Amino acid sequence: MIIDHDLHIHTNLSSCSNDPDAIPSKIIKKARKNGLKTIGFCDHFWDETVPGASGWYKGQDFTHVSLIRNQIPRDKEGIDVLIGCETEYCGGGKIGISKARVEEFDYVLVPISHFHMKGFVVPDTNLSFEDMANLLVERFIEVLQLDIATAIPHPFYPVGYTQYVDEILSYVEDNAFYDCFNMAADKKVGIEVSNVMFPGSRGKKYDGFHDETFLRILSIARECGCMFYFGSDAHELDSIGLVKNLGPYAQRIGIAEKQLMLNIL
Ligand SMILES: [Zn+2]
Ligand SMILES: [Zn+2]
Repeated sequence: MIIDHDLHIHTNLSSCSNDPDAIPSKIIKKARKNGLKTIGFCDHFWDETVPGASGWYKGQDFTHVSLIRNQIPRDKEGIDVLIGCETEYCGGGKIGISKARVEEFDYVLVPISHFHMKGFVVPDTNLSFEDMANLLVERFIEVLQLDIATAIPHPFYPVGYTQYVDEILSYVEDNAFYDCFNMAADKKVGIEVSNVMFPGSRGKKYDGFHDETFLRILSIARECGCMFYFGSDAHELDSIGLVKNLGPYAQRIGIAEKQLMLNIL
């Protein structure tokens, strides 16, 4: 499969991007050079109409993420440019975007696994790997029940625990993956195939876990009939185009063209 889109791109409007070159005009140029036809900007976002933002999220409100609309050049060099956002889910129904605001974006990514945000996404206490595994499943189901997410970025990838990915996921039964992905398929919520989840796509053989980890999990998602999209989760200009390396993975997972989320966006 030829990968021609990347729907998970951060610009330097995201606080975790420190690259002054991660701006729309340069990203669009690099995307064209890499043969991408569609890109989606997805800066981190917490809606100021929803109480309870963390200190880190506070500045990344609607006014802030909307700055991108004036940064996109008139000449998009033939690339389709979508404007999405990556918001947050903290459990217990607490999500960083209101239903009304969803309409302002082309699509909304809701991560379930930003476990590095201690004291916000996860409790400030030390969770066991089994607790984390249970939380991943629970949060996945809860997010789907809210009917807000267009898609789930880097599903089941516990951010901040790269070295323990396999150990954490060993506590998730196959049945739980089937339950989650069947529900996502039913609700037509997209599943990200992310460079973050495949060390080989980033030139590494092993990065605390192997390519096989998420090949297996996403194959279950494919079996369940989920829709998919590709995302680099780029935070710097250099990572634009990385998404092309996901072609062989899409092949191995068995994703068909008709299963691409872009068809229904
Ligand atoms: Zn994320
Ligand atoms: Zn991201």
